This record gives sequence, structure tokens and C-alpha cells, in this order.
Amino acid sequence: MKNNERIVVCGGALAGMASALGLRKAGFEVSILSPAYKPMELATGQYHPRVYAVSVASQRFLAQLGAWNLMSPQRISPVQAMEVHGDGGGCVNLHAWQDAQDYLAWIVESGQMEQALYQALQVFGVPWIEDRFERLEGNTIVTAGNKRISADLFVGADGARSALRTAAGIEHQAREYGDAGLVAHFHVERPHQQVALQWFTGDSILALLPMPDVDGKPQVSMVWSVPQAQADKVLAMAAEEQAQYLQNSLFSLSNGRLGQLSLRSSVHGFPLTFERSGLVSPGVALVGDAAHRVHPLAGQGLNLGLGDIEALIKVLSERGAHYSVGDMRVLNRYKRARAEPIAAMRAATDGLYRLFAAPGAPVSMLRNAGMQVVDRLPWVKRRLIAHAAGFSPDSLLF
Ligand SMILES: Cc1cc2nc3c(=O)[nH]c(=O)nc-3n(C[C@H](O)[C@H](O)[C@H](O)COP(=O)(O)OP(=O)(O)OC[C@H]3O[C@@H](n4cnc5c(N)ncnc54)[C@H](O)[C@@H]3O)c2cc1C
Repeated sequence: MKNNERIVVCGGALAGMASALGLRKAGFEVSILSPAYKPMELATGQYHPRVYAVSVASQRFLAQLGAWNLMSPQRISPVQAMEVHGDGGGCVNLHAWQDAQDYLAWIVESGQMEQALYQALQVFGVPWIEDRFERLEGNTIVTAGNKRISADLFVGADGARSALRTAAGIEHQAREYGDAGLVAHFHVERPHQQVALQWFTGDSILALLPMPDVDGKPQVSMVWSVPQAQADKVLAMAAEEQAQYLQNSLFSLSNGRLGQLSLRSSVHGFPLTFERSGLVSPGVALVGDAAHRVHPLAGQGLNLGLGDIEALIKVLSERGAHYSVGDMRVLNRYKRARAEPIAAMRAATDGLYRLFAAPGAPVSMLRNAGMQVVDRLPWVKRRLIAHAAGFSPDSLLF
């Protein structure tokens, strides 16, 4: 098999770094094309604003890449249980032990993961070309800095606004939810006990994720999906008003589950969109947010992206002696391998979003009654736990 073919990964965030590292470890000649990696400077006791729920399957993949052990264990929070509340008294509780597991997931800072992947890339000597993709001319990329880079395969890990996807003419559709995801960290009065909490409130979805204690005080990370206008209002508030508004709103939506909350970080907002794309074209394969975007209510966007990367490496490694890495017969195998997991995740997250956004008392009664039924069926709960681990396409993490 020819493994000396050249692969260039466009994009140097989590999906791009994981792709390049995995491909390098599989024996391919690979480099990254992306603006320089700039780690965020954090003062002692500060945490990166973006945290991710990393599934058991993703954790295993990051460990295989050699990146998991490079992260500081004190900054990683295991999730041992989930508690999901409906808008009318419905509640589903999932515990890892109910399916003989130790953990359901881990909450990890984006910055920790990036740093670990970057370090591993340096150990493996993967070249990083500090530039931006601008256009495609056959099997050659022309960068913003006017470099010409030829390769047998370009991996598009350049995010939701992927310029490589557009240049390659890969079909893409996007639909805005009209909501934004607000993220911030809080101190809470009561210990979270490694439980990920979520409330579907009708017009918003609130998740409070367990984080490491700071100065002996428990900490959680908020992901609050709210209508865009409300998010704009919150982001425009002066610091004191913003803290008061968030603390009061979260206390009320969580029914005081963790006691009083106290904002301990800046607040960031991300527009939420549902996006799908064609995944491949001759000499081009997309991974991560360049390939798809799902609602963060299940905490699965990055996990889905890491699944793409594992599948792409497998297909390229097993492609057979006479096929080039950019051959459509090979790339279509990757596309087929990802079709079901991506479609199932899309359907699950979009379906849940619509179910809880549907107005009216009868629908509300039905969805909450459904949650109560699920909560009493151990075999359904075991299935949900296996899905949360990421070993099944319709995974839901929180
Ligand atoms: C509020 C919120 C909460 C979330 N929570 C979770 C969670 O708990 N669990 C989870 O699994 N997922 C979660 N997600 C999803 C997750 O954030 C994304 O799936 C993930 O960050 C996508 O990473 P990426 O590397 O594909 O893209 P990006 O992070 O967008 O990176 C794209 C990279 O490409 C580079 N780039 C852009 N243009 C070019 C160019 N022309 N040339 C070269 N490089 C370029 C950029 O500089 C950047 O480095 C959440 C998302 C949101 C919005």
C-alpha cells in the first residue's frame, strides 16, 4: 500500500489536530495548514470558557492518539450520572452503574485538549504551515500567503464556514435555530456529585456540567441555549447586571438544585445552526464542523467529529494497494461509513429540540409522561447509557 502519499489537513483546531495526529500515527505523510496555534493565557484558578462533554468512545480515541494522558487529570471531571428534567415534572436519571460502567463521559476544557494534541503533534514532528487556505487548483492549494501546496488528499477541518468545502463544490445546507448557546462557569453552594444536570424549559435548554472544585468550592459550567434576542441582551449587559441576571435565572430554572450560583468567568455566546454537507469530492474529505453541525443539547458535536476522523483513518489505512487516498472509490467508503451515525445524531438532537420547543399543554403532558415512563424502565436506561458512551449512533450525552 502507498502510504507515502501526501495529505494536508486544513484547519488546526480540535478536529484538524486530531486528524493530523491520527493520520501521522497511521504512517501517512501529513501536514497542517492553519493560522498559528495560540493557547489562551489563564490565571491560576481560571478555566477555559469552552468545555466539552467527551464520550467514552472519544476518550478512548484521544488515549490511542496519546493526547489523553498529556492532559492534567485535576482539570478533567468525570460524569457519573445524568439528570434530565422536562418542562412539566418529567425527569430521567441515568447512572453509570446501571449499565456496569464507571463513567458516562468526561467534562474537559477545550484549551486542555488543544494543548495536549498540539504537544503530541510536535512529538511526532507534524509540520504546521501557518497560513490560510484560499483556493483550490486541481490537486494544489493556493494559500492567502500565496504558497502553492500539492497533495493527494486535502482533509477539510476548517470549521462550519469551511472555505475548502465551498472551493471543492461540496453540497452544504444550513438552517439557523434562531438560538444561541451561552457558556460560563459558576461556583455553586451544593456539591454537584459528578452529575450532569439538564432542564428543558420550553423556550430554553439549560445544562450545568460538573467541573473541578476551586478553593474548596464546587464549580459547574453552564451551556444555556436561549433565543438569539435574549442572548444578545445578556451579552450586552454590564458585568454586575449580567451576573445578577444569570444567577437569578439559573437558580429559578434549576429550582435551586445546586443552591445559589455565583458567576466566576466571562460569558460567551455561540449561534446555533443545523448544518449538513456532502462530506467528500475527488481529493477532499471533510471532518468535524466542516462536515456537520448539530444542536449542542446532547453535547455531541465534537464527539461526532472525532468519530469522522477515526472512520477516515480506518478507510484510508485499509484502502488496498492500488488506490490513492484521494480516489472517490475510497472516499465514498468513508462517506458511507459516516452516513448513519451522522443522520442518527442529527435526527436525535433536532427531534428532541423540536419536541421540547413544541407549544401547548397536551404535547407538554405527553413528553413529561414519556420521561417518567423511561425513568422506570431499566432496559431502556441501559440502552441510553450505552448510547451516551458513544458506541451507538443515536448517542445522547446530556
Ligand atoms: C455552545 C456549544 C457547546 C458545545 N458543547 C459540546 C460538547 O459538550 N461536546 C461536544 O462533543 N461538542 C460540543 N459542541 C460542538 C463543538 O464545539 C464543535 O463540534 C467543535 O468545536 C468543532 O471543532 P472543529 O475543529 O471541527 O472546528 P473549529 O473549532 O471551528 O475549527 C476550525 C479551524 O479551522 C481554521 N480555519 C478556518 N478557516 C481556515 C482556512 N481558510 N484555512 C486554514 N484554516 C482555517 C480555524 O482557524 C480553526 O482553527 C458545542 C458547540 C457549542 C456551540
